[in-house]
Amino acid sequence: MAVRVLLIAGLGHSGSTLLGALLGQLDGFFFVGELKSTARAFERGQRCGCGEPLSECPTWRGILAAAFGDRGSVSELEFDNSSARALGILRQHRSGTHPCAGAFAAVFRAIAETTGSRVVVDSSKWPGYAYFLGGLDDADLALVHLVRDPRGVAHSRRKHTARLGEPGLGPARSAMQWNVWNPVVEALGRRVAYLRLRYEDFVNAPEDAVRKIAALVGEAPLRLPFTAIGEARLEPTHSVTGNRTRFDTGTVPIELDDGWRREGASNGAVGALTWPLRLRYGYRTRP
Ligand SMILES: [Zn+2]
Repeated sequence: MAVRVLLIAGLGHSGSTLLGALLGQLDGFFFVGELKSTARAFERGQRCGCGEPLSECPTWRGILAAAFGDRGSVSELEFDNSSARALGILRQHRSGTHPCAGAFAAVFRAIAETTGSRVVVDSSKWPGYAYFLGGLDDADLALVHLVRDPRGVAHSRRKHTARLGEPGLGPARSAMQWNVWNPVVEALGRRVAYLRLRYEDFVNAPEDAVRKIAALVGEAPLRLPFTAIGEARLEPTHSVTGNRTRFDTGTVPIELDDGWRREGASNGAVGALTWPLRLRYGYRTRP
């Protein structure tokens, strides 16, 4: 039987890691992090969400042993960046023969088997990867399309790259990516179980968002991780890669980041370039 895979798709800096971690607390759900980059995460000696180095995490050792046996090759679990380019992916999706298809299918089955989970939550986000999962026979894909105000995305990216001292993606490129990625995810959503969720609605009413997403995959969890308004209690997950907030456990706040509203010129540029899709998603010109 195909494994239920719930992919959080859309642009980065939209709260996908927190959403994945919250879903990972539900009975029968396993939050895997950004599975698309698993090989690289192992290669770089990154830590699992539980805090152990990935190669020493007992959960991941069990998953890989069940997926690959003795020939244990985690190196096959890398969704190639170049193949994420939209046209290449659409071609590959039609042919249904992506070189990593077997490895990813084996890991989804292994996660379900070794952890007893019914739903695997993957926060890989990329549209190309979403199409790839849509073409996997062994994955029954459901999409949560996470959308955030494009001015908030651009602002959050700028902060992130400045912190790392890296050259950032300028407002124009950030806006164009927002214009392209969102409709591509929406188009796939017409073929699989699909829910569009705005980041702003998610952080303002996280309980509502989590219940709706659970219903999308036929689940009705009895216990939710929320402890108060704007607050949740998180147990560690076994996520590979993603935002550093994936290591946050215990009581964590769920709050709206709207620092972008204090920015001037770049908001105008991003706002102009993302019209009219921005309006269709309910993001008005004047915040
Ligand atoms: Zn772990």
